[in-house]
Amino acid sequence: MLLNGKAGVVFGVANKRSLAWAIARRANEEGARIALTYQGERLEENARKLAATIKDPLVLPCDVNKDDEIAAVFASLSEEFGGLDFVVHGIAFALKEELEGQYLNTSREGYRVAQEVSSYSLAAIARHAAPLMEGRNGSILTLTYLGGERVIPHYNVMGVAKASLDMSVRYLAWDLGERSIRVNAISAGPVKTLASAGIGGFSKILDHMRNRAPLRRNVDQEEVADAALFLLSDLARGVTGEILHVDCGYHIMGM
Ligand code: NAP
Repeated sequence: MLLNGKAGVVFGVANKRSLAWAIARRANEEGARIALTYQGERLEENARKLAATIKDPLVLPCDVNKDDEIAAVFASLSEEFGGLDFVVHGIAFALKEELEGQYLNTSREGYRVAQEVSSYSLAAIARHAAPLMEGRNGSILTLTYLGGERVIPHYNVMGVAKASLDMSVRYLAWDLGERSIRVNAISAGPVKTLASAGIGGFSKILDHMRNRAPLRRNVDQEEVADAALFLLSDLARGVTGEILHVDCGYHIMGM
């Protein structure tokens, strides 16, 4: 039980395929009490149905574009949990038209939206989480993608947002390290989810990785969740500012 007695909040559970859901479930199996957040009423029923399958869940609304909703989540967590050991940030969004065609044509609004939801939200969430993590060796984890380090056709503005997210992890690791709070990311290989379905040519990305990755296959949600468990737990107490690739080794390839 790697997370026995710990409490965490998981942002980004849209449905049963969500990477955030796989992590929430795995963390719960390892003894953690979990709060799940959902964005808007449209997703509440889904979030509550999934939450009902884990032990003693807390379910809270949170659109990360709204500062008052972020503040309300952490006020509830303070009241219900009394403190916090980990945060999972599994949130990203870009306008559909930005994930087709060329990055060259990114609109000002498309750029703003992708950065605000997919990158800025980590800093906003970390700022609220830190006071609840005092004296508890907290761990903050986000999910990123290779498209923030290298060019993946069609990933476009989301790649630029992931590059910003990756640097955000490092700056936050520096800021929060003196309070013994760690900040890391998992760079997951492509997995079919609601978010990834919006990326133009996603099935080609899956095929390419399956053929070119050292392990000659794709990753799945459970493999991402197992790596997350390591970063959330005290096993990774010496690890911060790290981007751990869980991609069957694909990122090492030059061709
Ligand atoms: P997902 O199930 O669609 O999760 C994305 C989540 O972000 C959804 O729950 C979505 O809610 C939420 N979100 C978007 N805008 C939000 C907002 N304003 N406030 C609160 N939540 C918001 O897809 P996923 O693939 O698991 O994505 C999770 C993370 O993993 C993302 O950061 C993604 O970039 C990253 N990642 C995914 C892959 C992959 O291949 N799947 C690979 C590497 C990294 P709505 O449904 O309401 O928009």
